Amino acid sequence: MAEHVIIGNGVAGIKAAETIREDDGDCKITMVEDEVYPFYYRPQLPRFVSGEIDEGRLWGKKKGFYEKNNITLHLGKKVTRINSDRNEIILEDETTINYDSLLIAAGGSIKKRRYPGSELNGDIVELKTIDDAKNIREKIKSAKSAVVIGEDFLTLSLTDALHSSGLEVTYLMPGDRLWPEIMDKDASSILELKLKEKGIKIKHKTDIKELVIKNKTVQGVITTNDELINCQILGIVDKLQPNMGFLNGSGVNTGNGILVNDKMLTNVDNIYAAGDVAQLLTTIHNEIPKINIRWLKAWKQGQVAGSNMTGNEAEYDDIACISSTQICGIDLISIGVSNPLDEGYKIMRGDYPHPEIDVYKKLVLKNGTVVGALFVGNVLEAREIVKVIKNKMDYSEIDETLLKQMFDLNYRISPFHGFLCPVCKLDLPISPDAKVGDKITCPACGIELKITERMLK
Ligand SMILES: Cc1cc2nc3c(=O)[nH]c(=O)nc-3n(C[C@H](O)[C@H](O)[C@H](O)COP(=O)(O)OP(=O)(O)OC[C@H]3O[C@@H](n4cnc5c(N)ncnc54)[C@H](O)[C@@H]3O)c2cc1C
Repeated sequence: MAEHVIIGNGVAGIKAAETIREDDGDCKITMVEDEVYPFYYRPQLPRFVSGEIDEGRLWGKKKGFYEKNNITLHLGKKVTRINSDRNEIILEDETTINYDSLLIAAGGSIKKRRYPGSELNGDIVELKTIDDAKNIREKIKSAKSAVVIGEDFLTLSLTDALHSSGLEVTYLMPGDRLWPEIMDKDASSILELKLKEKGIKIKHKTDIKELVIKNKTVQGVITTNDELINCQILGIVDKLQPNMGFLNGSGVNTGNGILVNDKMLTNVDNIYAAGDVAQLLTTIHNEIPKINIRWLKAWKQGQVAGSNMTGNEAEYDDIACISSTQICGIDLISIGVSNPLDEGYKIMRGDYPHPEIDVYKKLVLKNGTVVGALFVGNVLEAREIVKVIKNKMDYSEIDETLLKQMFDLNYRISPFHGFLCPVCKLDLPISPDAKVGDKITCPACGIELKITERMLK
């Protein structure tokens, strides 16, 4: 009987386990996870912090799921080494577990910026885990204002959580725009405008010079512009770094992440990697980041890895590589190459940006073919554009009505609805029997939505 071992009980790990079990009812599946919770929906953490949802809505799987599917789950156990010659993983307590095939789905950890005084204090927060969320909820009870610094997606998520909890939030941006991996300056300006309307203060090209700490608690920060900003909570967030420390000496090749081919296979023929920890060896366009944090991508990669672990030949296709989220209720989606830095790309933006409209949409073309898109504030046509990019369509082949609706501000008819999950952008399967007011849960990220008339069109 084959033994499959999975490191990490996040979305990549759980999707792989489900896929393996679907393909093979008899094999042995073991999962090792250093957090102490069953699988939960990380994208829901900001809503949990703000009290919009309770803890019960976070769970993607209850403990019974593992028993029912005959999956052995070791919670609160950290993998410290892999011995690929002996096909075994070694845990912190020196227990060893043998495998026939191994999936590394260990995600990443938030890298912390360091400032003078930042090592002193427990009021510095980040938001990656349920425990982080519980810590923030506790601190919010006695806080009025927060400062957040960083420029990545996770900084935006933390800002959302703190602002939605009723705190006054100041966002310090060391660079000149938000989420630079996917956003150009115009897109960032639109998002900034919308965040400012909601009351979030944003400061460009501003870093922290030092922390103001009294009685071992944060009282504020002094910025590089010598401004004192008072706060009781300080969020310091940098990029997510793949968790790969336990691979030292394993023989598994790494770059910025664990290097995998499109079968999610590493250089070792029975070791796979998927999700935030994995780095694709090749991407169809060089401008698509080879490593990026995305729920739906991790879900799909877990599915591909799980399928291949049972002997199939599944491949992960990154062509429409979608990054999507909702920040303070504002929809954002980037598809494929959304922010090319090289020359040789053509950008189509129609009437955007427009001084009176806080929406932004663009298409990115290479030699006439649509290779990317970006939507801020209104993502109605995103579903159709995913198809355009997947089918490698020329700009000239796109339905004229779709282009008009996307780019012509005077064109108001909206025939291209479809429905993408507002958080992870999975194309949501809505049953033909569904009625307005029914509830639907996204099978990928777990957000619960009420069916509206528009979703049924
Ligand atoms: C607050 C927040 C909001 C987000 N919102 C969105 C969103 O709106 N849209 C979107 O697309 N993405 C979002 N993301 C990103 C998304 O959650 C990640 O891309 C996704 O969780 C990656 O899944 P994964 O399975 O690769 O890794 P993870 O979910 O990180 O799971 C990896 C697991 O492995 C465990 N692990 C690590 N090392 C070890 C070890 N040595 N031994 C044992 N276990 C180990 C970790 O504890 C972790 O539980 C959000 C993330 C956060 C934190």
